[in-house]
Amino acid sequence: MSHGHSPRCSECDTTAVFLDREHARHLCAAHFSEYIEDQVLATITEQELVPPGSRMAVALSGGKDSSVLLFLLNRLRDRLGITDLVAVTVDEGIAGYRDETMEAAGSLCQGLRIPSICISFNERFGETLDQMLVGREHRACSYCGTFRKRLLEEGARRAGASLMATGHCLDDEVQAAAMNVLRADIGRITRELPDKGRGPFIPRIKPLSGLMGREVALYAMLSGLYTELPECPYTPHALRAEVRGILNHLERDRPGAMRLMMQNYGSFRECMRRKAPSLPLGRCLQCGAPASGESCRVCTLLREGSAGSEVRESQPLHR
Ligand SMILES: [Zn+2]
Ligand SMILES: [Zn+2]
Repeated sequence: MSHGHSPRCSECDTTAVFLDREHARHLCAAHFSEYIEDQVLATITEQELVPPGSRMAVALSGGKDSSVLLFLLNRLRDRLGITDLVAVTVDEGIAGYRDETMEAAGSLCQGLRIPSICISFNERFGETLDQMLVGREHRACSYCGTFRKRLLEEGARRAGASLMATGHCLDDEVQAAAMNVLRADIGRITRELPDKGRGPFIPRIKPLSGLMGREVALYAMLSGLYTELPECPYTPHALRAEVRGILNHLERDRPGAMRLMMQNYGSFRECMRRKAPSLPLGRCLQCGAPASGESCRVCTLLREGSAGSEVRESQPLHR
């Protein structure tokens, strides 16, 4: 088996670039790329996520995950029957971080000849994320996530898209699941089931959700998509970073642990949904967006910001 120091591909015996710990095999660059593309096709077709003739918006931050997503959907578009791809990029306004990723997003779209739509927090809400967060930096992800989601939705509508793809990989999904359980966030647990076009939002799909983060990173590198980009300056504030560390540790000791946790979470979610049916969606009185109460999350956070006060609607898990 052993050929000196470099491991060989289990499929073709050329030099391996990847150790697939879950299936205990090595893969060369060509077989690795094939495996990634097959995985993404399987994720999409097994769940019947993309009806033929779709005009698809792709949430593109410019980071490696969303870049791989756009690149792969473009490569697989004929096999998936995607008619049009449009990239939607949101500029949150994070100094020392967003400019470079915006540039990466722009040049990828140019290279692939894919049209793009950019919307900024500043033009839409009158403030950058940095300005919104003064004095409440520890809530960065909650503010950022809520507003970005809204602008992605608006961008996808502007693009006339019938579907929106986001670059969440398996690691992101497991982290979000663990956070939802730690916080007993029953609303999130029951709301975030796969959506096939029911409800008022543009259906969202996650074609990379079967791939580990390290697989996406290697695919980015092998496809020439990887550039060294700065890390989001708010990441260290997030509890999520600690959860990520714990989950990565589990996966290292027990290859396949993340995939298994995600399957178990699926059963858990189904059960929770039967026990706690979600509130019917009405309309936000301020902006008309779908909302389960009088105000949507966006308007609630914007109001908090202008009042300068801290209103907590769930127990924060900070020490
Ligand atoms: Zn091979
Ligand atoms: Zn609203």
